[in-house]
Amino acid sequence: MDTPKTADIVIIGGGVMGASAAYHLAKRGIKNVVLLEKEEFFGTGATGRCAGGVRYQFSTEINVRLSIESLPMLECFKEEIGQEVNYRKCGYLLVATNETDAEAFRHNVALQNRLGVETELLSGGAVRARLPLMRFEDAIAGTWNPKDGLVDPNSVVAGYVSAAQKLGVKALTNAQVTGIRTRGGEIEAVESTQGAIETRTVLNTAGPWAGLIGTLAGVQIPIVPVRRQWFTTNALKEIPEDFPFVIDFAQSLYFHREAEGLLIGMSNQEEKPGFEQNVDEEFEFLNLEAAIERMPLLERASRASHWAGLYEVTPDAHPIFGGSPLKGFSICAGFSGHGFMHGPVAGKLMTEYILDGKFSTLDVSTLDLARFEEGRLIKEYNVV
Ligand SMILES: Cc1cc2nc3c(=O)[nH]c(=O)nc-3n(C[C@H](O)[C@H](O)[C@H](O)COP(=O)(O)OP(=O)(O)OC[C@H]3O[C@@H](n4cnc5c(N)ncnc54)[C@H](O)[C@@H]3O)c2cc1C
Repeated sequence: MDTPKTADIVIIGGGVMGASAAYHLAKRGIKNVVLLEKEEFFGTGATGRCAGGVRYQFSTEINVRLSIESLPMLECFKEEIGQEVNYRKCGYLLVATNETDAEAFRHNVALQNRLGVETELLSGGAVRARLPLMRFEDAIAGTWNPKDGLVDPNSVVAGYVSAAQKLGVKALTNAQVTGIRTRGGEIEAVESTQGAIETRTVLNTAGPWAGLIGTLAGVQIPIVPVRRQWFTTNALKEIPEDFPFVIDFAQSLYFHREAEGLLIGMSNQEEKPGFEQNVDEEFEFLNLEAAIERMPLLERASRASHWAGLYEVTPDAHPIFGGSPLKGFSICAGFSGHGFMHGPVAGKLMTEYILDGKFSTLDVSTLDLARFEEGRLIKEYNVV
């Protein structure tokens, strides 16, 4: 496809945020939208490397509300977008093994229940009873929501991109943005490896790279890339089909069923910010050891695949929605490792912001860029 010379809106980054925003803008009738992705395919950044978990279980009201809006959009994705995304409601079971986390869990369940989310608080004994294949002698409490589960990230991106294209969006791959030209405090053009596009409006959905795009525009965005990784096992006949998404919260260690085996990940708390996306095999070994401690049958498992990707981390683990000091330059990024599930509503919210100047579906105006300078941070506890 030839690069358009002009656009009403240029979206930078074709992961779940960019794809969702492109679709929602086009659905509102904006015809001249251009989506630029630097890689050969859409959705190969954080979105394509993510674990696919979707959950209502968060510790802040704004994140719970984002899930309340976004997860039903994934449930009816096939009807609206025409693409199967394989929503599997296996439930999330979060396990606390120390009193601080148990106390936070009690607070989280009360918050979620108040917002109409039916998460259940479990005792340590109930956790053990639900997970007979696992060793959780030290479990003090758990939280369980049967509506949490898994969705296929690649299908979500592919669905949004092709629905957007049908509505007229020009979606380009191998198009790396290399510059944002401004004049007198306004955007003039976006420069890319496939040519320049004149525009007044840019949406930065570059995920872990959003800070770099900010630099091109002269806007400081506090998002740092941090590597996270997981591996999958071969088929394990003992794992039942309804095995939940289990999180050993203190270790940020998680397990869920993937194909006939398990997907297992753990966050390296020592990981330094950086763009490295190779799997750290030394840490993978630690991950495996921790997983075997919790599930001894894994001693007999072999690795089927492994991946590393980048979390897009902000100082308060909440995303950035909205404008910036540069007129026409807005941001939808920084979801800090749990953004895939919020992608559907995020694209809709940014469409409202760009076209109407306000968020109507859900007021996320407190998650603006200015909060970092003004010290209005809201810390999310349920980061895995
Ligand atoms: C290992 C791992 C596990 C995860 N597990 C989950 C989970 O279970 N559930 C969940 O909800 N979230 C999870 N996440 C987080 C989730 O993947 C992200 O929050 C989400 O995908 C972010 O989407 P995005 O569109 O903002 O970023 P991305 O998907 O990274 O998209 C940004 C795009 O911008 C492109 N880009 C960058 N620079 C340029 C440029 N100069 N020009 C053009 N294009 C550019 C990139 O190539 C990329 O495709 C996980 C992340 C990782 C790494």
